[in-house]
Amino acid sequence: MDAAADTETDTAGAGSTARTAAGVTARVPAKVNVQLTVGGLRPDGFHGLANVFLAVGLYDEVTASPAGAPGVKLTVSGRDTRHVPLDEGNLAARAARLLAERHGREPDVALHIAKDIPVAGGMAGGSADAAGALLACDALWGTRTPHSELRALAAELGSDVPFALVGGAALGQGRGELLTPLEVGGTFHWVFAVADGGLSTPSVYRECDRLRESAGTGASVDSVPEPRPSPQLLDALRTGDAAALADSLTNDLQAAAVSLRPSLTDTLKTGSSAGALAALVSGSGPTCAFLTADAESAQTVAAALNASGHCRTARTTTAPAPGATLL
Ligand code: ATP
Repeated sequence: MDAAADTETDTAGAGSTARTAAGVTARVPAKVNVQLTVGGLRPDGFHGLANVFLAVGLYDEVTASPAGAPGVKLTVSGRDTRHVPLDEGNLAARAARLLAERHGREPDVALHIAKDIPVAGGMAGGSADAAGALLACDALWGTRTPHSELRALAAELGSDVPFALVGGAALGQGRGELLTPLEVGGTFHWVFAVADGGLSTPSVYRECDRLRESAGTGASVDSVPEPRPSPQLLDALRTGDAAALADSLTNDLQAAAVSLRPSLTDTLKTGSSAGALAALVSGSGPTCAFLTADAESAQTVAAALNASGHCRTARTTTAPAPGATLL
């Protein structure tokens, strides 16, 4: 594969449109897990999950344009691009190849990813890029893949990819890939504290198992209760009640993320002291998520986080956000 990383000064969006006049761009959202309940370690090495996804308004943009030669040519712009693989390991490139294979054609595509979702930040940016690549390549190639088939391809690529296609809010069960859309009755205001550097999702799961073993409860599927969605949480989403949602947010990976990155405790405390209704680690971290009562409170919490030095930057946004969308 041909690959090149752009410099950090090549700003998201501007670079991609200038370079790819004939291209198709998909915008894809990040997610926060408002409930992430992790079951015991199964014999196949995976954990069962009760996972409530909420799409939030931080986006990557994936542009697909004709490469003029067989294969996938990949470029990336934005912050932290040095941590984004530019080879076969990139989920967006894998998505393009999978779609091409399914339609029995050569990929022949130049993919440009304008990254704004924190890399390895627990917000499923790589999965979002895969969803964006599926949608953008399908439009570019005119392959008209039915949405149900795109979702099936997304599930082959990773358990968080189908959600990035559909957005909104959804309950994920199994390994997260069995999705049930959820009703959301209002707009929620969030602040995300982006950390310097990422955390590896597999190592956070390993740390979760280690902490369970050392607490004496055991980490296997026989010793951990079967994960179930919280009725209070689903109710809070349905009614759009931020205070009730704040009371029911849970993340079973939080202790593991904090154990691997103890400084996250300071980040979480800073947002709580500044008036957030709730603070939690986003997915496997290290991004921290703060639910606030309104937009004004979100600005106050973000300002406190930015002034504290306990994160690289704090971003305000709202949820739910739509899934992958062609621009
Ligand atoms: P996960 O979805 O595993 O919870 P995450 O949200 O913490 O991950 P991602 O930004 O998706 O973080 O990146 C996880 C890893 O996936 C990266 O460290 C990188 O090696 C790999 N990766 C593959 N494709 C991409 C991509 N398009 N953008 C970012 N990372 C990618």
